[in-house]
Amino acid sequence: VIELGTPDRSVVTTCAYCGVGCSFKAEMQGDQLVRMVPHKQGKANRGHSCVKGRFAWGYATHKERILHPMIRDSIEEPWREVSWDEAIGFAANRMRGLQEKYGRRSVGVITSSRCTNEETFLVQKLTRAVFGNNNTDTCARVCHSPTGYGLGQTFGTSAGTQDFDSVEHTDVVIIIGANPTDGHPVFASRLKKRLRAGAKLIVIDPRRTNMVKSAHIKAAHHLALRPGTNVAVVTALAHVIVTEGLADEQYIRERCDWDEFREYAEFVSDPRHAPEAVEELTGVPAAELRAAARLFATGGNGAIYYGLGVTEHSQGSTTVIGIANLAMMTGNVGRTGVGVNPLRGQNNVQGSCDMGSFPHELPGYRHVKLPEVRAIFENAWGVAIDPEPGLRIPNMLDAAVDGSFKGLYCQGEDILQSDPDTKHVAAGLAAMECVIVHDLFLNETANYAHVFLPGSTFLEKNGTFTNAERRINMVRKVMAPMNGYEDWEVTQMLANAMGAGWTYTHPSQIMAEIAATTPSFAGVTYDKIEAMGSVQWPCNDANPDGTPLMHVDGFVRGKGRFIVTEYVPTLEKTGPRFPLLLTTGRILSQYNVGAQTRRTANVVWHDQDVLEIHPHDAETRGVKDGDFIKLASRSGEITLRAQITDRVSPGVVYTTFHHPDTQANVVTTDFSDWATNCPEYKVTAVQVSPSNGP
Ligand code: SF4
Repeated sequence: VIELGTPDRSVVTTCAYCGVGCSFKAEMQGDQLVRMVPHKQGKANRGHSCVKGRFAWGYATHKERILHPMIRDSIEEPWREVSWDEAIGFAANRMRGLQEKYGRRSVGVITSSRCTNEETFLVQKLTRAVFGNNNTDTCARVCHSPTGYGLGQTFGTSAGTQDFDSVEHTDVVIIIGANPTDGHPVFASRLKKRLRAGAKLIVIDPRRTNMVKSAHIKAAHHLALRPGTNVAVVTALAHVIVTEGLADEQYIRERCDWDEFREYAEFVSDPRHAPEAVEELTGVPAAELRAAARLFATGGNGAIYYGLGVTEHSQGSTTVIGIANLAMMTGNVGRTGVGVNPLRGQNNVQGSCDMGSFPHELPGYRHVKLPEVRAIFENAWGVAIDPEPGLRIPNMLDAAVDGSFKGLYCQGEDILQSDPDTKHVAAGLAAMECVIVHDLFLNETANYAHVFLPGSTFLEKNGTFTNAERRINMVRKVMAPMNGYEDWEVTQMLANAMGAGWTYTHPSQIMAEIAATTPSFAGVTYDKIEAMGSVQWPCNDANPDGTPLMHVDGFVRGKGRFIVTEYVPTLEKTGPRFPLLLTTGRILSQYNVGAQTRRTANVVWHDQDVLEIHPHDAETRGVKDGDFIKLASRSGEITLRAQITDRVSPGVVYTTFHHPDTQANVVTTDFSDWATNCPEYKVTAVQVSPSNGP
């Protein structure tokens, strides 16, 4: 525990780690942060917290933070510390020069799910109003972009349907592809409390997570599927519900498109989707799958929570659609205790998507091709908006390798470490003529940068984050920015150096612009958030106090839409050279690529990534617990230590990706979701062999 003194004041703010969005009192002694105390009035956490939010804030003042801007003409040269004016001028000239030489679509941005709504709004505005194109993408590309597609197609909007309080009224829960104990701990505590009170749990996960069995809970069913077969399992659940007459016909007739349901019902009724028919493919015993389907359909209020184990697949969007189908066919959308809820990984990944970070959507999930939507922003900004959707992150990298994409402003994301196929990312970055990294630390991506703009932490800025239940929480400045500027100010400086003429003096003005241009935020003001503590979008004339539950009187799109979910096997195949399947995840004390948590006291709980391997697979390879092993795939190889455990099934291995020295993404493939290009991190064919160490 880090306790440095006796606090003399406190500031209420929001945790900058996961999408639960816990509220904290930052207790201060002068300008020194003494401790973070979970805030009892926080609506997402009610005074609870986990070890990340509570203890992992030391990175904010870590000695490795870069506090002065730096530039260099080429990536072979050493960095030169310069003034903010010189760095911003250098970056602006380079980006403008590239656009003059290669065209206005030759540059783009990556927004950050770590930054505030206001900062993200400004970065996509920079792209559209200053660069003059739609080449803006977000790290949601590599996590929940299939949620955006799948829930948008079926329900009409890409967000969780419930507030966290809803779980207190659920009777049967499906958790699929998520490990909330490690990834969303405060929500997991609320869920476990409900389970202890009698709610039933179905876990669909290749690994025996803590949710399957722990001190006081035991899942009714654990469907330990083979990685890559989510769609087959979800469709088989639907098969049982439809063929055994368990679908809620009255709900479907009233709330959904009946003709589309009939087409879907005919599809899932085919015997090839029966649990017995997919047992060998999925590895899930048919009787277990049938029992789980019956429980979900008949067990009362049914809620589905899911995570990246659903989305990070070549069929991620199809599984999201399948989950939505399951909820609709059982009448489990539109009231408390039910619903479909993506567990968002990052503190503001929901907000990052809401704010128009995608290359085809303006803020509020409105397609850039729609002239009436462009007109709203053209009137507000006084510029013409490019009607052509821009490039996604993988397309930017491909175009860079091909020579048509030349400049990138990357805010708060280390794509070299977090994106798949590290060699390809490096090749794309190396081919660009101007890479601007705006971050706290010299991360791996900065090795390829020409400009480094120091970022500010959540403790040094005002703004808002939106959590996984669409709750807009205030982020309040606890200390002055150590680098001199909040991130939105840096973006404004860059925009103005390129001729924009922006005059924001406080993030509340940016929120006013968001509200004026985005119907789901029309009623959001800082005064309202301060008065209510937080507010959930949509917040507008129809719902002035916000919307805890979505789709209550009808789906956002009108009738709920059933879509056929054909299982298409991943192109990633096991074989004699690579006979095992690797899947990845997180651990409680660490966060994503570890840029922050590794620079805090939390590192004592997890100082290296390890490979979980089943005793049978370890024995046949002569691997003992704690041994170094080589993990090889068709993409590359890494070395890490083995941990022998039956949490994973034979044929499946598992690791985390928190430490840059192991670089799990060296071995992952470049396969991605068919609809959104979300990388298939969760399925890689690998071989494990003994090693002498790195
Ligand atoms: Fe922060 Fe998430 Fe932990 Fe809450 S549960 S303290 S938001 S990391």
